[in-house]
Amino acid sequence: MRILVLGSGAREHAITTALLAEGAGHVITVAPGNAGIAADVETVSLDPTNGPLVAEYAIENGIELVVVGPEAPLIAGVADPLRTRGIPVFGPSGAAAQLEGSKAFAKRIMAEAGVPTGRPLPAGTVEQAVAAIDELGAPYVVKADGLAAGKGVLVTEDRQAAVDHATYWLQHGPVVVEEFLDGEEVSLFFLSDGHDVRALSPAQDHKRLGDGDTGPNTGGMGAYSPLPWLTDRWESEQAFVAEVTELVALPTVRRLEHEGTPFVGLLYCGLIVTEQGVRVIEFNARFGDPETQVVLPRLTTPLSALLTAAATGQLAGAPEPTFSADVAVTVVLASEGYPENPRTGRVITGVDAANAREGVSVAHAATAVLDGDLVATGGRVLSVVGTGSDFAEARERAYAGIADITLEGAQYRTDIAAKVAR
Ligand code: AMP
Repeated sequence: MRILVLGSGAREHAITTALLAEGAGHVITVAPGNAGIAADVETVSLDPTNGPLVAEYAIENGIELVVVGPEAPLIAGVADPLRTRGIPVFGPSGAAAQLEGSKAFAKRIMAEAGVPTGRPLPAGTVEQAVAAIDELGAPYVVKADGLAAGKGVLVTEDRQAAVDHATYWLQHGPVVVEEFLDGEEVSLFFLSDGHDVRALSPAQDHKRLGDGDTGPNTGGMGAYSPLPWLTDRWESEQAFVAEVTELVALPTVRRLEHEGTPFVGLLYCGLIVTEQGVRVIEFNARFGDPETQVVLPRLTTPLSALLTAAATGQLAGAPEPTFSADVAVTVVLASEGYPENPRTGRVITGVDAANAREGVSVAHAATAVLDGDLVATGGRVLSVVGTGSDFAEARERAYAGIADITLEGAQYRTDIAAKVAR
């Protein structure tokens, strides 16, 4: 197949790697990609948010499937002109991508679909926000309504900090003050064709910058899959997945279908397992990063077949995705100063040595080649993935890969998957 992948992060590198691993001879192009992706497949400098241009490119190049990686192009509506012109695209319309683009939209859909979530109190003014903060009490959860690159959500015990966060984000649009939910977080991906869904294997992200879940929220500093502790409460991973399918994914997809905005693409369910049951904390409209880097290496069903079935409304007849018994851990290497003010342009070495290790694969995020050197071009630079028969092995491999790599001032967490590796 001729496949066009839009995006330039470690997620898109992982998607490309999974498509190549099928060994089906796919011709893959990534726009715009990064240095690691360019070493594996063709890359083209094409603005992923420019729908008409992407559609033109796809038609001229006989593209049979477009896979949209990041949220920004989806919310900008990149999928719409592609669909209008009959090109199969894995990624929701601009209207359906509001599930990620607007917390208020997502909350409305959840309410109408009866999906369990933290009680929300939307606020359009500082007075309303303060009233909501005092009504719900500590710990406080305040979320900016629109896309905020991971910076829009504040969870804090400090009432003044909650009020300040709401006040700041109210300059940009409404905010949502939400009931605090206590428990383990789960990221569960569903492929959706607008009517039916298929679940992938669950993963857990590590959102905070520092060890022990300290420091600011980030795009994600590491992840692991599967989640062995799920079977403390559920009979099996399948039983957990079946419950989330019935309670969350299907009602959401059916509600959007009913509204005339079918969701075709990846429904990312960000969940918290509370004492009272599973609750949704957020939806995303695309594969999660870094969770994709630990879910796709374990997938044993051809990814292209699943994405094509979703993109063409044929999931009902598609195979149930299956996963290897191996586990995966990824550790993100970030630039000095990330997330506030990442230092860029610094030289990276040791990636080849890391990749040469058994069970280690390095997904590139913000990298480029400059004067023959690999350099960092942004905050999250690399995602080093270790796979193995258990978490101790996968973790050891991921961290051995990290140790091979040098980048001045680089930051990474040392406790990714530590709690499952004992
Ligand atoms: P989000 O961008 O909505 O995923 O939020 C970022 C992070 O904030 C999540 O990964 C959670 O760790 C935390 N968070 C969001 N909503 C809640 C909530 N209602 N209760 C507790 N923690 C939350």
